Amino acid sequence: MIYNGIAGSEGIAAGKAYIIKNSQTEIDTIAVASDAIETELDKLSEGIELSRVQLIRLKEKVEKELDESKAQIFEAHRMMLEDPEFIEAVRDEITTNSFSAAYAVKKVTENYLTIFEQIEDDYMRERAADIKDVSSRLTRNILGISSWDLFSIGSPVIIVAHDLTPSDTAMMNKEYVLGFTTDVGGSTSHTAIMARSLGIPAVLGLGHISSEIKDGDDLIIDGIEGKLIVNPDKQQKEDYNRRISELQARRKELAKTASLPAVTLDGKRVEISCNIGMPDDIKHGEANGADGVGLFRTEFLYMNHHTLPTEDEQYEQYRKAAELLQGKPLIVRTLDIGGDKKLPYLPIPEELNPFLGWRAIRICLERRDIFKTQLRAILRASGHGNIFIMFPMISGVGEVREAKNVLEETKEELRKEQIPFDESIRVGIMVEIPSAAMTADAIAKEVDFFSIGTNDLCQYALAVDRMNPKVAGLYQPLHPGILRLIKNVIDASHKHGKFTGMCGEMAGTEEACIVLLGLGLDEFSMSAAAIPNIKNIVRTVTLKQAEEIANQALELATPEEVLEFSRNKLNEIRRDLL
Ligand code: PEP
Ligand code: MG
Repeated sequence: MIYNGIAGSEGIAAGKAYIIKNSQTEIDTIAVASDAIETELDKLSEGIELSRVQLIRLKEKVEKELDESKAQIFEAHRMMLEDPEFIEAVRDEITTNSFSAAYAVKKVTENYLTIFEQIEDDYMRERAADIKDVSSRLTRNILGISSWDLFSIGSPVIIVAHDLTPSDTAMMNKEYVLGFTTDVGGSTSHTAIMARSLGIPAVLGLGHISSEIKDGDDLIIDGIEGKLIVNPDKQQKEDYNRRISELQARRKELAKTASLPAVTLDGKRVEISCNIGMPDDIKHGEANGADGVGLFRTEFLYMNHHTLPTEDEQYEQYRKAAELLQGKPLIVRTLDIGGDKKLPYLPIPEELNPFLGWRAIRICLERRDIFKTQLRAILRASGHGNIFIMFPMISGVGEVREAKNVLEETKEELRKEQIPFDESIRVGIMVEIPSAAMTADAIAKEVDFFSIGTNDLCQYALAVDRMNPKVAGLYQPLHPGILRLIKNVIDASHKHGKFTGMCGEMAGTEEACIVLLGLGLDEFSMSAAAIPNIKNIVRTVTLKQAEEIANQALELATPEEVLEFSRNKLNEIRRDLL
């Protein structure tokens, strides 16, 4: 039986099903007599204390046995649990309505969830999962029901669940979890983000799969096509086993050369870097041969908090990333919030077109307090490594100048306070708005580098919403119009002796690789898993070949023609090498 879902994380795995039942906790007592209110308040306090201790222990355990970034989730949960507003609201329900402690927690959680689930933002909606997770731990502790523990899995399995809570995924041991599949979730869900960072395949959004599959069923999970095969027949097993072996063999082969520099056959070196959301992602990047970090999406630091992260909290993270990289470049992008990324504690007025609205640098230039705090943290960390600052969503020279002025003011403040930082820190911008791409020659005079953000550049240049599945077919990075914009940016930077990188998804795709190389791209930044393949392609061509291919691609009329042409060229080059 084949089920079609959403490809949450690439890869293919075969194994036995391990069903996780997220049993609902039944609450029998809704209201209590007035003389029992004190007892309920005590139960609440004890439940909070027990949950707090559990979360601290879990954090320590995951930190020790898995890794630090995954342990952060428990820290976030502890903060939610200890949120005075939340506790006060629950106490209030107990004293005013005589609700039992467990029921009061349920009521307050529901109120929170209603607010969260209304937010039109996948990422924020997923944060509702954290609230549910904390609330169900607290409820179980109030009612004296023991907690589920994913650490107990002792043999390789494929996890099947209705949904996985953030603490479930944080506890997963990669040794035993071959892949996972869930009834709900989308490609930006916590589960998908976690699966990608663990590097294990996941297929999500499968409807009622967790109640249709039995423990021990044979499963094949295809995270490339978004398919789940239950109890495959002999032929399907053979086909997939062959594909798994091919994938493994290819990965193994590519891994051999992943640490080598990306140099073309005629000696042109380019940087192949990784995109990160948290400092710990660097380990995964380096294991795949990353030359540095081409994009640190710092908004994750803000999203994992319930208030704005302080200067010191940010400094610790930037410094950690810089130190982990030991001198390799770290491009830190300043806060890119707005559009599809919102913060619950930073209200953004309702907008008709959030992607064309108040976001990223536009917010920072208005909220100087937020901007300066971040710049101070980045500057302070710059003394501990090779840090570059990058401003997102720049539309023209004016914003660059304004942002640089704020940076200069911040530097001056630090000098006055005698706080050391890298005086020659380099400053660049994301080129992701067409007007910036078209005026790149003027902007190049103001900055040290560009990084092309094709995820947004394509949506703005092609007028295709990057989140709208209905127009997904029109989202074509190899559109001749996009290639011309990219060429314009690279040429302008080179004319002024600056470099251009690319940190949009396009940089990690093999169809675009040779064309981008030929257009003169200096740095390619991508998710860690894509690095070995891209490095390998760079090492199989000459710059001259790539330039010819790029020139020919620029002459083509449609995205389909470019795609077919570049695929054919790549195949020819690979064939010639055999
Ligand atoms: C981009 O727009 O290409 C980019 C890398 O930034 P984000 O995906 O975070 O918007
Ligand atoms: Mg962007």
